[in-house]
Amino acid sequence: MTGNLRFGWDFRETLSVLVFAAACAGLAAIALLCGANVTPAAAAASPAAQKSLRVYFVDVEGGQATLFVTPEGQSLLIDTGWDGNNGRDADRIVAAAKSAGLTKIDYVLITHFHEDHVGGAPQLAARIPIGTFIDHGENRETGDAPTVQGWQAYQALLATGKYKRITPKPGDVLPIQGMHAEVISADGALIAKPLPGAGQENAACKESEARPADKTENLRSLGTLITFGKLRILDLGDLTWDKEMELMCPVNKLGHVDVYIVSHHGWQQSSSPALVWAIAPRVAIMDNGAKKGGTPSTLDIIEKSPKLENLWQVHYSEEGGAAHNVPAEFIANPQGTDAGNYLELIGQADGGFDLFNSRTQETKKYPAR
Ligand SMILES: [Zn+2]
Repeated sequence: MTGNLRFGWDFRETLSVLVFAAACAGLAAIALLCGANVTPAAAAASPAAQKSLRVYFVDVEGGQATLFVTPEGQSLLIDTGWDGNNGRDADRIVAAAKSAGLTKIDYVLITHFHEDHVGGAPQLAARIPIGTFIDHGENRETGDAPTVQGWQAYQALLATGKYKRITPKPGDVLPIQGMHAEVISADGALIAKPLPGAGQENAACKESEARPADKTENLRSLGTLITFGKLRILDLGDLTWDKEMELMCPVNKLGHVDVYIVSHHGWQQSSSPALVWAIAPRVAIMDNGAKKGGTPSTLDIIEKSPKLENLWQVHYSEEGGAAHNVPAEFIANPQGTDAGNYLELIGQADGGFDLFNSRTQETKKYPAR
């Protein structure tokens, strides 16, 4: 009897300790009550998460804003979303940064000077400290008023003298610690030689029609291949089809990647078979808006990619319709009210990764192969 009672008492005691521990671990707001002098993010992160690369795909309604945070807390934001909307995009980026435990963003990379990529920079800089800007150099699209406006606002920001600026060339490695970020494309130039292990003949070149050269800022996108241990993530901004062909034909200069951040929001000007089928990603993540990007023909090309396990979408694509959108569990913002939900990738050095949908609160695992 005594033993049973004692067991019962111990069990309840253990249970209450477990409940308290779970509350401490699970609820950032409770962290202060637990008496630990740590940030909410650090309190919530498991030991595995603390060794992970975290990548936030912030919903900026058809622009780009992708935040990389290394285990050591170094950060790289690729693009800043749009200007206007009372700082909507900057607010969403800052929310992601805070949830990662950041108080500043070390590097902000501007892929090119279109308003859906550089537009949010002044609003972001007003909300959170930034260390260094990285860009491809001059704006080359001087006939487009919104682009010129965005460029001028960015120039004014640089002119404050508060920020360092880097203008890298293809083949350069960005100075961020804790992950390897190599420049693939910049200002219309591309890496000249295949990356180590790449250089195989690309059979998908004959499946991709030749297209005329793009004349906008898109083809000048500052594209990077980010490597964290064995995990490889490709981001080419809005690099266009013609440049993809130049990069990937006749030989594949990149090799395979695990994660393809879908170029140009999934619009049909990018994502040729020559690129997508040759890099053969396990997962593609598309930062489209409801009415921007997600072209049916592009979604078809991505879905036909030989090793693809899943396509994830920041938004349901209205143009894609029922036939081309992925199931709702893979969409952060389905049709209806737009809550600005994000996707988060939690990457491991062994090449495995998880994908978290902030709307469903579900995580899908992609174990290392
Ligand atoms: Zn864009």
